[in-house]
Amino acid sequence: MNKYDSEKMAGMLRKYNYSLTPDLNSADVVLLNTCSIREKAEQKVFSKLGRIKKYKVKNPNLVIGVGGCVGQISSKAILKRAPYVDLVFGTLNIHRLPSLLETASKGNAAVSEIFSEAEQYLEDYPISRKSGIQAWVSIMHGCNNYCSYCVVPYTRGREISRKCNDILNEIKVLSQHGYKEVTLLGQNVNSYGKGTEEGITFPGLLEKINEIPGIERIRFVTSHPKDFSKELIRVIKNFDKVCEQIHLPAQSGSNKILSLMNRKYSLKDYMEKINTLKSSISGVALSTDIIVGFPGETKQDFQATIDLITKIEFDSIFLFNFSPRPETVAAKLPGQVNEKIKQKRFNTLLDLQKGITLKLNKRLEGKNVDILVEGKSKTNLDKLTGRTRTNKIVNFTVRAGTAAKLKLNTSADGDEIFQKEIGSEVSNAGKGYLTGKIVPVKIVRSGLYSLDGQVIN
Ligand code: SAH
Ligand code: SF4
Repeated sequence: MNKYDSEKMAGMLRKYNYSLTPDLNSADVVLLNTCSIREKAEQKVFSKLGRIKKYKVKNPNLVIGVGGCVGQISSKAILKRAPYVDLVFGTLNIHRLPSLLETASKGNAAVSEIFSEAEQYLEDYPISRKSGIQAWVSIMHGCNNYCSYCVVPYTRGREISRKCNDILNEIKVLSQHGYKEVTLLGQNVNSYGKGTEEGITFPGLLEKINEIPGIERIRFVTSHPKDFSKELIRVIKNFDKVCEQIHLPAQSGSNKILSLMNRKYSLKDYMEKINTLKSSISGVALSTDIIVGFPGETKQDFQATIDLITKIEFDSIFLFNFSPRPETVAAKLPGQVNEKIKQKRFNTLLDLQKGITLKLNKRLEGKNVDILVEGKSKTNLDKLTGRTRTNKIVNFTVRAGTAAKLKLNTSADGDEIFQKEIGSEVSNAGKGYLTGKIVPVKIVRSGLYSLDGQVIN
């Protein structure tokens, strides 16, 4: 979501004649788009600000702005701890950025603007996307769920769905520019459509996107298990572009902890949904989020999470140590777990999952998979890289005979990667040989984070 917001900010400012630079020395404006989901992320903002301060000493006209979730909930703390900051803006003020920057660059006093409710959805603004193949598309913002550990409802406001036609138009334009894959974003995509005049549901939206010519793959994050419906499973199964890759955050395997987290589903509900997914969608890849060391988590509760992970065998998991966040209920709960125990539990789950991921990836050796090619591999420039429908990264070679052609043409892909890094708006889809194409690849070797393969044809 933050990456997408950054792309929006860059696109909007480009319209006002700003351009992106990878060189801090030559920047007139530095914007930090911040995350406050865990304390560590918030601390990073202040250490980064400390480093940027020296550029302000060299160039007193430099404007430093802080946006995003930390800006939204800690504007006063930012201006107090980093008085050299010129502008603080919230998650719902992005559309005001050009005018805020103008005020900040003219005046002596710091500018701070935080809206608590959305004034408008950011439509009709250009987005400066980094990839020419894959695009993030926000379908809603905010969250009404109030999981007891989570700061998002306080940093991103109430849940609001974007109009279906606006989403479809954005994706049609992406397709015209050569994009092949969209990832739909929302804190709980399954409640998309609630409160809209169009009365459309999330599965209904997926069906419509599936009809857009040129778009080959559709992904989405994140699904809240309590709202994950049979209808959605039907759409994933029957609509060819919707990828069989589901991120379904469990958070814990213990009913007691799930209830303290205010997640509104039980272990049994979760397992039933996973079992239906596995039996209905062949080859489905599953991933999840797990929080360890939630207040009150005993050895037995932790064991229940181990059991859940062992039983389900996720393709990957995102693990987090519980981090108390301001304003949240969980920060004040009794039974806070000490950091050493949290880290030990974290490491236990990490080791467990590494074994499972390796085992599942090993099963792919010798199999043929369709790869959407993204460009040259960053780790091995002689190879191309792309993803399976199940979102696994595959680095691959083209067979003897076609290798020369690959070498000749991938310089364009190399340029593209460079442009991606500096945030160019240029879409290179279709420019480089194979980039943006779906090619059949045989997996020859598997690892923890990526697979190696060879083009079949
Ligand atoms: N809306 C998404 C999650 C967004 S936050 C959903 O509900 O699935 C991404 C993940 O960060 C969460 O799933 C959770 O596992 C983790 N997280 C959120 N708040 C946290 C906290 N206070 N401490 C540790 N992890 C947290
Ligand atoms: Fe946070 Fe829960 Fe909303 Fe996800 S659903 S953003 S975890 S409150």
